[in-house]
Amino acid sequence: MNDVTAEATDLLQSLIRNQCVNDGSVASGEEVRSVDLLAQYLGSTGLDLERYEPQEGRQSVVARIEGSDPDAPSLLLMGHLDVVPVNPEGWTRDPFGGELVDGFVWGRGAVDMLNLTATQAIAFRRLAESGFRPKGTLIYLGVADEEALGTWGAKWLVEHERDAVYADYVLTESGGFQMPGGDGRPRLPVLTEEKGTYWSKVVVHGTPGHGSAPLRTDNALVTAAEVVRRIAEFRPETRIDDTWRRFVEGMGYPPELAEPLLDPNRLEALLDDLPTALARQIYSCTHTTFAPTVAHGGTKTNVIPDRVELEVDVRTLPGVEGADARALLEEAIGADLLGKVDITSNDDPATASPMETPLWEVLERVSSKLVPDSALVPFVMTGGTDNRFFRRAGSVGYGFGLFSQRLTFEQYGTMFHGNDERVDQESLALSTEMFEAVARELLA
Ligand SMILES: [Zn+2]
Repeated sequence: MNDVTAEATDLLQSLIRNQCVNDGSVASGEEVRSVDLLAQYLGSTGLDLERYEPQEGRQSVVARIEGSDPDAPSLLLMGHLDVVPVNPEGWTRDPFGGELVDGFVWGRGAVDMLNLTATQAIAFRRLAESGFRPKGTLIYLGVADEEALGTWGAKWLVEHERDAVYADYVLTESGGFQMPGGDGRPRLPVLTEEKGTYWSKVVVHGTPGHGSAPLRTDNALVTAAEVVRRIAEFRPETRIDDTWRRFVEGMGYPPELAEPLLDPNRLEALLDDLPTALARQIYSCTHTTFAPTVAHGGTKTNVIPDRVELEVDVRTLPGVEGADARALLEEAIGADLLGKVDITSNDDPATASPMETPLWEVLERVSSKLVPDSALVPFVMTGGTDNRFFRRAGSVGYGFGLFSQRLTFEQYGTMFHGNDERVDQESLALSTEMFEAVARELLA
């Protein structure tokens, strides 16, 4: 085992053991513990570190190597410090033990995304220790609160401390898992685009009455059940956007697969024949999706309810504006029931960065050396990451790490916020080398 592997393993284990669990409440997370750890780790380089704490315990840390040329492009390596909660019953091992077993580090955050938070820090320290004096500035950011909308992390920093964190180019989660292309060569997805959210509350109204006399009552719960059913069954049109098209073309699939994947009239029929996990992923990349997720209503067994509140997780494709998403939601609910509901929504639109950038070129060059014969493909992130704040501020933001072949795309997908999250040490070494080489080439 080389130094990089041992160092990455050790730092990842420590980050996992810090248990910076973000349950969405302001008092959770306590990322200060991992900021202390990283400050100790990076502090030995002699570089100045800045800490930001918009709420007690919700710290983020910034380290920078100042470039010599203010006009040269800058690069931000950004990793979040928080993780989502676990249900220990579903785990084979202690989710916060950071155990090393057969070359895998186990624990919450192993792939989302403490693996990259750790390897970015190691790349940064190696660069600093080697006396790296780039033209463009390199910034490392260990950030709080990614798992709850970035309120006390990236969102806050971009709004209040833009100069400290802004860079022309941003690398954060996730991407880089090896997917076999149609010609057998590995493809490495770069997350260039992220769907938006249009989270909606649907309040369903009725008329109260006595539960002992239900005939012809206007029961909000019964109406809500129908609203939920309609939203769940709603199938908006298939949209083939530019990122999806370039992904499919870049994968080198045979025409019998590539053609239906790019044809809005044939794609849904193709999904019927595919395994569920794959079909679900393809569907989300090509549709604005609607998932009813929360229902609150009723007061007492003998009272006909007059109010039920539903929450719907709507995820929008690029180009689907708030008004479009609203129209789709109304179409799903149906004209006959719209008079019984009030809808309020929070529009957080999709973001995307172009492929034609110096960062893409550098990533392709560096990755093809570390993963022989590989090629990059753009990919759609169906969930959200901190990249959106930086893209809106003007950065080119990509999600990218590197993973070995010990971790399949399917395994990787199920571990995100799931049970038995783990990452192999080879992947840690690959990511560290990639981040270091990319910084050297892009900022030189
Ligand atoms: Zn994450």
